[in-house]
Amino acid sequence: MDDKYWKLGIIGWPLGYSLSPVMHTAALKACGLRGEYREIEVKPEELERWLETKALEIDGFNVTMPHKEAVYLWLKRSGEINPVADDIGAVNTVRVKDGRLSGYNTDGRGFYDTVSEKLELKGGNVLLLGAGGAAQAIAVYLTGPVGIGSLKIWNRHVEKARDLARKINSIGNPCRVQVFPKVSDVSLEGIDLVVNATPLGMRGEGEIPQEVLSQLNGKQVVYDIVYEPRDTGLITAATQKQCQTITGEKMLAAQGAEAFEIWTDEWRGGKPIRVDGKSIREIMTDALEDALRQPRVARG
Ligand code: NAP
Repeated sequence: MDDKYWKLGIIGWPLGYSLSPVMHTAALKACGLRGEYREIEVKPEELERWLETKALEIDGFNVTMPHKEAVYLWLKRSGEINPVADDIGAVNTVRVKDGRLSGYNTDGRGFYDTVSEKLELKGGNVLLLGAGGAAQAIAVYLTGPVGIGSLKIWNRHVEKARDLARKINSIGNPCRVQVFPKVSDVSLEGIDLVVNATPLGMRGEGEIPQEVLSQLNGKQVVYDIVYEPRDTGLITAATQKQCQTITGEKMLAAQGAEAFEIWTDEWRGGKPIRVDGKSIREIMTDALEDALRQPRVARG
């Protein structure tokens, strides 16, 4: 088993610079495993053929833009889907075993793992800015497995926020979901956690609306999933208001660690991995922080 050569990777189209190889290569090395994590460009029109053939030659892969929903739909027909990924309707991690593909979505769990260290969220109240792919994964996980009490959603295009609210309500978890067409109508009264799941705060993308920033008062935990830059305008404003903050690279490492642990579940006998006292998440966070210190534009 230890002679095994692990074949892992990430599929997408086009693939810009991705930080996933940095994290997974560090994890393989720390565990003393031989193997590789490759960037694999798969065009949308080639996706089905790739899943039927090339995917079977590797042990597991991550899925990024634009394939997360298409892989989910393919697995619905021809593979297996973990219940959380099924509720989200998108897959970011696939395990390949005995010629069969199983799909997972590690974004929501990765997000929550990093929040739960700071905040007990069961029954809590969350404000979510954004309703795109990452926001959906977070919202489904928080309203489902975590069991938050209420969720407020603001999105630039309100219809997408309404779609997300409908999706959450259709899953049937007991959470009060409210959609706000205007950011000026959003009150932070009673909110425990504010999450930015839009690109606002990235260079050139604009900033979180002042109507939100001005209401921060130290009572909220503020999570910005943007990781480049790490200290966004939201994180800076939240720190000034004495809010606890969580920065985006924490979620990136945590969702990566979840994926790595899914692929290596059997190898590690279902037990958590610790190398020199560090978890896979910590090993990946260190590798990520090193990579993010390099002066360049990164994605993924
Ligand atoms: P996505 O599916 O394209 O969704 C983008 C969301 O942001 C949509 O709700 C969109 O609103 C909103 N948005 C875009 N530009 C905006 C603007 N100028 N003003 C207000 N809202 C705007 O993208 P995603 O995959 O969810 O990613 C969202 C952000 O999260 C990105 O910055 C990405 O890098 C980051 N991310 C981080 C992690 C991590 O692990 N840390 C993981 C995934 C994503 P509309 O519907 O109105 O267009």
